[in-house]
Amino acid sequence: MTPHRLGARAPVRLPVRPRPEPNELLSSWLFRLAQANTQKLHSLSRTLFGDRQIWNRDIDRLAGPEVLAALEGATGIRATDLRVHTLPSFEGRVYDRHNANGITAWILPLGIYHRTHRRHGLQYCPACLKERPAFLTLWRLSLSVVCPLHGCDLHEACPACGAPVIPFRVDAAAHLSKSLPTYSPHTCCFQCGFALDRAPVTAADPALVAWQRTVHEAIIGSGMMTVRGVGAVPLLEYLSVARLWLTLLTFGRRAERLRELVDVPVKLTTGARGRSLDHLDVQTRRVAVLAFVTLLEGWPERMVDWSRAARIRRSTLLQDMAEPPGWYLDALRPLEYVNPRRALTFTLSDLAALEALAHAGDRRSLILLAYHEGESLRAIARTYGGTTSGIRKTVTLFVAGSPRRIKAGTERPDGDL
Ligand SMILES: [Zn+2]
Ligand SMILES: [Zn+2]
Repeated sequence: MTPHRLGARAPVRLPVRPRPEPNELLSSWLFRLAQANTQKLHSLSRTLFGDRQIWNRDIDRLAGPEVLAALEGATGIRATDLRVHTLPSFEGRVYDRHNANGITAWILPLGIYHRTHRRHGLQYCPACLKERPAFLTLWRLSLSVVCPLHGCDLHEACPACGAPVIPFRVDAAAHLSKSLPTYSPHTCCFQCGFALDRAPVTAADPALVAWQRTVHEAIIGSGMMTVRGVGAVPLLEYLSVARLWLTLLTFGRRAERLRELVDVPVKLTTGARGRSLDHLDVQTRRVAVLAFVTLLEGWPERMVDWSRAARIRRSTLLQDMAEPPGWYLDALRPLEYVNPRRALTFTLSDLAALEALAHAGDRRSLILLAYHEGESLRAIARTYGGTTSGIRKTVTLFVAGSPRRIKAGTERPDGDL
């Protein structure tokens, strides 16, 4: 066959066109599509996509408009409907922006090397596979640790030989006549042939199952989660807090004492180079998520208790968060006093002088009064501008200051506020 440029010829309409299952990964459906047309996956790919090498990349992450358009031509299923079966469809729901060239938060990396996956990037539920031979988009997310339908733990490897799950590498030719609606050879281990739908079904913690169900429902549908004592919050906000806490619970900096308290045994998946939540094996993630669920059950008091017990600084509880959600900042409010607030002692005349200056619009006096009244540093910074460390410095200078401290113009301005 001569090499073709993608999309440069009339579409080949396939005779048999099974539709993707709900939430099925594009790659899983492609395998079944080839199977239904008694073609090898790689022959079909060549027919549809020409010389484009799609299987040595993460096709579910990277299938772009050209690949989807070729599939629309071959099956009559609209490209926009097919996009739902790719991982970029999670953009705006699970993470802000899909990063085609690098790491995307919550997506399990495959660690692709010469068409082989070195990481356990695809999870599965044996009971789901038994019902319908389809791997699901949700199984590529590190936040998925159990199956909400069957209440069991997800697997991330072949239980017989430990190989990662690479459905497209199953030798379909050996099975060409065996494809049935309830069975497809790609649900077998590519390495040893073990039928993954026969992997052990282990009952998961009911609290974890309930949590997984609400998260999956939010991803697929509502986009909202409920937080105890807060109410409905956007899923993206919820997940930013979840990601921070799951990181602290596993390997986050300055949270060692928290891990001693909660005791999550951390294991990275094989071949892991990077170090993020998405490189942890499923057992570790499951234990960490269960700890996070326990935290949420006592929100917000339990979060404050744990943070105090583990002596985690407030700044650590906000690290890497570009825009901490307001409800999270509210929950952290009691922790602003972990570093004991300096008591501001005034004589009555001091206070009167300060109030007079504040009344005249003196910013420093306004800040000191707000602090004196118990406002949080963050709230003060928001109201009067500047940074929390700048506010802290103003207070420190005031406390260390001379008796002249309240007279206007006698003290250096606090420069970097
Ligand atoms: Zn299941
Ligand atoms: Zn195997």
